[in-house]
Amino acid sequence: MSAHSTKNDYLPSLIKTSAISAKRYATILTMLLGESSLKSVLHAIVRLIEEKNFGSKSSILLLSSDGKRLLKAAAPSISDSYNNAINGIEIGPKVGSCGAAAFLGQRVIVEDIASHENWAPYRELPLSVGLKSCWSEPILSGEGEVLGSFAMYYEEVKAPRAEDLALISEAALLASLAIERDRSSRFQRLCGGIFNQMPLALLITDAKGTVLDANPSFFDIMHSAKTDLAAFEPHCVFEQSSIELAHLFEQIRSGNAWHGELIGRRADDESFYADVNVTVFKESEDIEYSYAWIFSDITDKKSAAETIHYQAKFDPLTQLVNRPHLFEKIEQQINMSKLNPYACFSFILMDLDNFKQINDSLGHKLGDEVLIQVAERIKACMGKNDVLGRLGGDEFALIIPDEVCPEVLSKLVQQLNQVISQEYLLDSHQRVFTRLSAGISRFPQDACSLEQLLNCADQALFCAKEQGRNQFHFFNDQMQSDAERTAKLTNALKLAIENDAFELHYQPIVCAKQHKIRHVEALVRWRHDGRLVRPDEFIPAAEASGLIIELGRWVRVEAMKTLLEFEALGLDIGISINVSTFEFWSHDLQDCLINSITETATKILPEGFPFHKLTLEITESLLMKEQVHLINSLSQLRELGIKIAIDDFGTGYSSLSYLSEFPVDIIKIDKSFIRDVNDKKQAALVSAVVALSRALNLDVTVEGVESHLQLAFVSEKEVDSIQGYFFHKPLEKTALLEVITKH
Ligand code: C2E
Ligand code: CA
Ligand code: CA
Repeated sequence: MSAHSTKNDYLPSLIKTSAISAKRYATILTMLLGESSLKSVLHAIVRLIEEKNFGSKSSILLLSSDGKRLLKAAAPSISDSYNNAINGIEIGPKVGSCGAAAFLGQRVIVEDIASHENWAPYRELPLSVGLKSCWSEPILSGEGEVLGSFAMYYEEVKAPRAEDLALISEAALLASLAIERDRSSRFQRLCGGIFNQMPLALLITDAKGTVLDANPSFFDIMHSAKTDLAAFEPHCVFEQSSIELAHLFEQIRSGNAWHGELIGRRADDESFYADVNVTVFKESEDIEYSYAWIFSDITDKKSAAETIHYQAKFDPLTQLVNRPHLFEKIEQQINMSKLNPYACFSFILMDLDNFKQINDSLGHKLGDEVLIQVAERIKACMGKNDVLGRLGGDEFALIIPDEVCPEVLSKLVQQLNQVISQEYLLDSHQRVFTRLSAGISRFPQDACSLEQLLNCADQALFCAKEQGRNQFHFFNDQMQSDAERTAKLTNALKLAIENDAFELHYQPIVCAKQHKIRHVEALVRWRHDGRLVRPDEFIPAAEASGLIIELGRWVRVEAMKTLLEFEALGLDIGISINVSTFEFWSHDLQDCLINSITETATKILPEGFPFHKLTLEITESLLMKEQVHLINSLSQLRELGIKIAIDDFGTGYSSLSYLSEFPVDIIKIDKSFIRDVNDKKQAALVSAVVALSRALNLDVTVEGVESHLQLAFVSEKEVDSIQGYFFHKPLEKTALLEVITKH
């Protein structure tokens, strides 16, 4: 028999021509089917063979688990000295009969131990106990793997007959059955032990969820009793809304294993973190898959890890989800939609209207208190699955993961507006009010990516703020096209700054009495696409993009150089420069502004710049800002000799009180006040402003004088200076110089 033939190949023929009597066979088979130990079955086999072949002494050796040595198993008739001597012998192609048979997987017949080369190194061992011949048969498993060897010894030099060989084969086969039975029952015992004792829950179900088996740990972890378990509903055991669960089913239904973390729910409704492995298997005759769910309760491990990760994911002040984590949640929602084409959700971006003022006036500690209360109030209005996050500062965001119609969203935001605008009572017993503006974007109607979604909500929020705050807005396509236009404009402006595409025009301002040009206002123009673009079209975009800082600096350098040209020509004419509110946005920017002016001055005229001929025009809205630093900055400018004018006076927050507090020199009454000279109310207002300015020792300029009637009107009001198309339009520098010299 070859080493590679299997048991199944020779079993039928063997039984037909069995050399062993049926009775003896039955004895062995009964032992095999019963509980008898491997050792006793192998003993019985040896005894059986010895009885059958009188005079023979049999031995069974087993191959060690590393497959290198033979270990004694059953040889009751052979002397212990011999058995012990060969126990553990290393197998090899020429190691006696058994070592060679086990090594080669082939029968090895040695008729005369004394003369056979295989026995040369060891022959004294058998010969000393009277053994002279040895026939050995490898014991092979069903798969043809060598398990050990069966040997028959004789105390004489002897060759086997055909029936002897058949007997050896049968003995080896029986030994193989015994060894394999022992192995598999040991394996089963092992599996059973593992199943019952492992600290992981193990549950086996068919495709319909019918429980085929569950181990004790499963019931321990689930806090449930065996009787409760008929069918396994993963949707009840693991949290349904979890994205992972959807992914899990997709995987296992297509026959793939799954591993991940889920939030479990025990029988008593307590939740826990589970590390879950699902193995998918199919017996050859099955049509559907069966599943083995193995999971462990990792709540403790997780909560330790969570404390560490908490800071990374949550805002320490409000305990809300922080910006990166909220973005992650949005990404998760977007990913989920890949599994469900009908998935949709809404995103609400919220911003408190006057929070900066609260912070500035009450301090950060009380500001924080307000934020905590705001978070609580929003939470009280939220749905179970909604996610609220704080993006930073006074910016909050809400993800509404379910399909919600616009009407319901509107109601929700209205409710939020209402609860947020109620009074806040702080620890210090101070009472404050704040209000909410919100922008809403929806997936997938408005946007399909995180970035776009944020962008859309941002644009909607911007609109809400523009329209007077305490409002909310849904994103719409108009906003998108506006945003695209602004983006284009911003890009073009960036290039314009690099390419020096701006120029300054100057509009003369005349004195009210003699109508002489005493001053000009520098007005920026953009040479773009072959036309001159007016500032109203691009200043807002420059402000929104921050490019205004660079543009403002350019305007000032240009205007200051022109002022020096006037000086050089002996002209006594001052220049007004418009400064955007954005350049006063922060303390740093204010410092930058002052530095840029002084630096330019020292650069272009180190021996002393005529600052007294320079006016900076700022708008009223600026004066609503935090005061101390601003007053300081304006004072610094005035100390240089620069004058400060309030532009477009009367159009902003018309609180007159600031006029006395701020270091201001000139008021420019906005052109809207003289549009209709017959409007008595307007006339009264202009008179009042002039009177007030006189009292505060401020100069008054009126803008927008276009007609005789308007000129007559303002002349009557005794203003100091007049600006308007009636006298001059804004002019290029050369045209301006011509006009001045003609004058
Ligand atoms: P502003 O500071 O109020 O400038 C006066 C505006 O009124 C100028 O428009 C001027 O051309 C226009 N104007 C002058 N007289 C009359 C008149 O009789 N009738 C009418 N209807 N309009 C008159 P412009 O040049 O288009 O500038 C618009 C605004 O852009 C300015 O308003 C100012 O706020 C801003 N701006 C202009 N240049 C600059 C600049 O260099 N920096 C900054 N930050 N803003 C600037
Ligand atoms: Ca102006
Ligand atoms: Ca103005």
